[in-house]
Amino acid sequence: MTKIFIDAGHGGKDPGALGNNLREKDITLSVALKVEKILRRHKVSVVQSRTKDVFVDLSERAKKANAANANIFVSIHTNAFTSSKAQGVEVFSFPSSSNGAKLSRALLSSVLSAKLYTKNRGTKTANFAVLRQTKMPAALIEMGFITNSQDAAMLKNRQEEFATAIAKGILNYLGIKYVEEKKPTQKPAPKPKAKNVWDYYISGNSVKQLQRELNKQFKKGLSVDGLFGNDTMGALIAVRKGAKGNITKIIQERLAAKGFSPGAIDGIFGPSTEKSVKQFQRYNKLAVDGIVGKNTWKALFRK
Ligand SMILES: [Zn+2]
Repeated sequence: MTKIFIDAGHGGKDPGALGNNLREKDITLSVALKVEKILRRHKVSVVQSRTKDVFVDLSERAKKANAANANIFVSIHTNAFTSSKAQGVEVFSFPSSSNGAKLSRALLSSVLSAKLYTKNRGTKTANFAVLRQTKMPAALIEMGFITNSQDAAMLKNRQEEFATAIAKGILNYLGIKYVEEKKPTQKPAPKPKAKNVWDYYISGNSVKQLQRELNKQFKKGLSVDGLFGNDTMGALIAVRKGAKGNITKIIQERLAAKGFSPGAIDGIFGPSTEKSVKQFQRYNKLAVDGIVGKNTWKALFRK
């Protein structure tokens, strides 16, 4: 049986890189556990260097993979840099390993086709301990820069997608066809409890800002209470390419907070904002028209 070794970077006393209120060790573990779940569905066996928040020495990780006789080794990391401008995905393999390079390319192309990146930094080689000391084809993915706000939002909010992309890359390398998860047959849902808008939608400052702008620009007369309720929803206006100003800025901020990349948060609804709106709509299974209408507005403010 094919055995895959998944290595969640860092852990325990070693938090890895820090940035934007995130710790690398938490992200790598969360993604690694999700990758394992997806791979197991494909009848391959998975061994991990860690499945909880514990410290594991680098050599220990390689030793464990070698002892398990794993077919491939994939290490999961997030990048960091002194400048918050550095961003994007990159995948490493050991210099002399052609299968490692092939595995790297499979992982990278999977992340690229899932559009889970701000910048394609390509595949590279490096003399990292886990790549050098493992006997099987090995790759190390740096999913994005925790120190960059756009990447960090993606790393925080789109872990399931990262896991799917990594698992798909691995399966692709192994020549195993990816199959979607079967949804369990649905039991009749229990009657939902009556809920308040703040259970479903974010409330507070960005809602207040939106209410203020709707009042100022469109004389909507909303009470600026920061609650995304029926009045506010009823007052929403459709925003599309060519728009300029604070409402566009609010849209851009919400896109970024949801892990999408609207480009500069400058209040200008240009091509990159439109592209990001489309990506967001596709992800949320909305009509993909690039126009922020009622449903897109609601999805942007959904918790
Ligand atoms: Zn790392």
